[in-house]
Amino acid sequence: MLENTPMSIMSPDAIGKSQPPPSAADAVIRTEELHKYYEMGETRVHALRGVSVMISRGEFVAIMGASGSGKSTFMNILGCLDRPNSGRYLLEGTDVSQHDKKALASIRNQKIGFVFQGFNLLARTTALENTELPTLYTKIAQADRRKRSIEALAMVGLANRAEHFPSQMSGGQQQRVAIARALVNRPSILLADEPTGNLDTRTSVEIMEIFQNLNDKGLTILLVTHEQDVAQFAKRVLVFRDGKLRKDDLVVNRPSATEVLKTLPTLED
Ligand code: ADP
Ligand code: MG
Repeated sequence: MLENTPMSIMSPDAIGKSQPPPSAADAVIRTEELHKYYEMGETRVHALRGVSVMISRGEFVAIMGASGSGKSTFMNILGCLDRPNSGRYLLEGTDVSQHDKKALASIRNQKIGFVFQGFNLLARTTALENTELPTLYTKIAQADRRKRSIEALAMVGLANRAEHFPSQMSGGQQQRVAIARALVNRPSILLADEPTGNLDTRTSVEIMEIFQNLNDKGLTILLVTHEQDVAQFAKRVLVFRDGKLRKDDLVVNRPSATEVLKTLPTLED
């Protein structure tokens, strides 16, 4: 079990060597001194207070921190749902921090998959149609849209639920449809804001298994969670406090979600 290999039996060469610093060339995400304010009548909330970080292709990052520490604000900027008031955001080398809404929407649709705590599926629409939705805003041909949607559902283990409606699926299955929908345009980054926040322990680990499998295939993933048990499945953990990045650590002896699932009791459907 490679994932549980203790440091002591690693080759001597591997010991004591720090990770090579990520070079700007592989940075899929790079932020420089991001600040974000929200104006609320008389008061002004300083939600991000100078966040600088670099994330390379293939990373799997968990973002932690107390409620109100700026995690969602940061994710919304990374996901091109919002803009910073100052600072720069380079997405695959392009500074998008001054792009207007239309330009951001276009980049978002091409490069970013977003998963939310509340699934946000359309109720009267099948799993397949929900998954297909983001392709409607692209130039992908009709036949390819269907094919890609079926592939995306297969990636999350739901090929056999394509014709089901959200009300006919469990919370975990609905979240998997939301992940398929986030993947259908083949994004370079998957962003997930508390994706397991509404799910029980076993279902949360099942979602983390999907994320680990996608990351193993090369997808860059950033996920917000306030549960240490969920964060440990990532490769790196960032901790926010009061709008600042306070910690940035690599995960040591990261567990395999597939292995953890073998130790958890299964629930009846
Ligand atoms: P987290 O996701 O870590 O809980 P948020 O990024 O949602 O934190 O919020 C950071 C701060 O910004 C909080 O003080 C929050 O109340 C405030 N905030 C977030 N969104 C808005 C908004 N749309 N309008 C006003 N204030 C907001
Ligand atoms: Mg939040």
